[in-house]
Amino acid sequence: MSFSNLGLSDKVLAAVAATGYTNPTPIQEQAIPHVLARRDVLGIAQTGTGKTAAFVLPMLTILEKGRARARMPRTLILEPTRELAAQVKENFDKYGAGQKLNVALLIGGVSFGDQDSKLMRGVDVLIATPGRLLDHTERGGLLLTGVELLVIDEADRMLDMGFIPDIERICKLVPFTRQTLFFTATMPPEISRITEAFLHNPARIEVSKPATTAVTVTQSQVPAGREPHEKREILRRLLRDAKDLNNAIIFCNRKREVAVLHKSLQKHGFSVGALHGDMDQSARMAALDQFRKGELPLLVASDVAARGLDIPAVSHVFNFDVPHHPDDYVHRIGRTGRAGRTGTAISIVTPLDSKSMAAIEKLIGQQIPRTEGDYTVHSEASDEDAAPRRSRSREGSRDGARGGRKPRREREARHGEREPRPDQEPRQERAAKPEREPRHGRGSSPQAAPSHVPSIGRAEPRRTQREVDHEPADHSHLPAFLLRPVRARA
Ligand code: AMP
Repeated sequence: MSFSNLGLSDKVLAAVAATGYTNPTPIQEQAIPHVLARRDVLGIAQTGTGKTAAFVLPMLTILEKGRARARMPRTLILEPTRELAAQVKENFDKYGAGQKLNVALLIGGVSFGDQDSKLMRGVDVLIATPGRLLDHTERGGLLLTGVELLVIDEADRMLDMGFIPDIERICKLVPFTRQTLFFTATMPPEISRITEAFLHNPARIEVSKPATTAVTVTQSQVPAGREPHEKREILRRLLRDAKDLNNAIIFCNRKREVAVLHKSLQKHGFSVGALHGDMDQSARMAALDQFRKGELPLLVASDVAARGLDIPAVSHVFNFDVPHHPDDYVHRIGRTGRAGRTGTAISIVTPLDSKSMAAIEKLIGQQIPRTEGDYTVHSEASDEDAAPRRSRSREGSRDGARGGRKPRREREARHGEREPRPDQEPRQERAAKPEREPRHGRGSSPQAAPSHVPSIGRAEPRRTQREVDHEPADHSHLPAFLLRPVRARA
């Protein structure tokens, strides 16, 4: 099957040819004709399957006819994170280069004013995260009554992040007669339920079995104690010992841990970037860009920040924390071993993770063996700066992952410099505006998350009053006199 048989316009075919793609991927082959026939589509596909082009290419063909009106976008794409939204925009820029379409991004971290003036000019494709989109509609600067086509991408991720109520609100603002394209990597029961509400007689396309791990990924686990410094030491040894490590994503469960681990690895001489929801947009894009280009071969990330990102050819995935949800494990390790390449996924497992590991092994239908080699952290090595002999022997080698920099271990030990404590929030995190916490479990509301669980960090969340009420108040915007304690009258 070639692209020319799918019904795409000549302009779009020329753009595809320019990118060098010769054949459509299975999701493209199956979805594109339905989209062009203006049918609803339910696509069950993970990232890496070519699903973005499966909706971008036919949308470009459809949009060749007609014009946008001020404040009334013709099509709307909802993405769970800023990065994914930006990635979809890149696809429009790439495939739509020959067309004069207005494509706008509505994401947090960018000024309302700029976004507003873009909306004023008329938008053919609006790519948005749910929170920022609703902020614009509430301000009256955006009307969704002209939307002919709605894309809900990464729906299961939206569910995890507590966005489904927002999506339901948005769906009420767009015309009932719209065409809807709905993509999800997995089909938990809640997603099945909402597809029935959002879609009309959809063409169902499933390109890979949900919750399967690629056979090309070698998975293993390393036992560790509960202490974060012990896990950090094990990770450093794993990084030094890893064979054929070209680049790696290191996943943490919490944004705070991302920041601490990032700082720690930097301190130990590794060339590493970070990606979590509290970083501002430009820092996130810069870290991602450096990782993609290979300038930073290691990236410490939270699930929220990393889900669905198109990062080709990652050789290793490390689970610094075992994810609480087995689906997340599948997504994380799906970052490696893509397109038939081999990959390695190593999880650092503490005694507290036994339940999560059992759930993961049940989901993937296989036992995850222990990594070869002894990574036990002995008491004398519990100091962060003490390295085991095995790793020390390799220390002088200049490998890519360490950015060719010798760890500053000796100097740090001499000066008594220590790792930042996990409970010491880096300034960047402290300064960050509080955002809504993503949900920690399917079917549980965001406010149901235990109060001791720090936020993983999110791009766009809208917060309910209850969440706001239960958070420590941010008084930075109030004049000082309002913050003075009120003396009770006798
Ligand atoms: P996605 O699943 O949309 O994240 O796409 C994954 C990767 O596949 C991206 O790097 C795309 O540029 C690439 N891709 C999309 N369509 C094709 C195609 N027909 N042939 C080869 N690569 C593709």
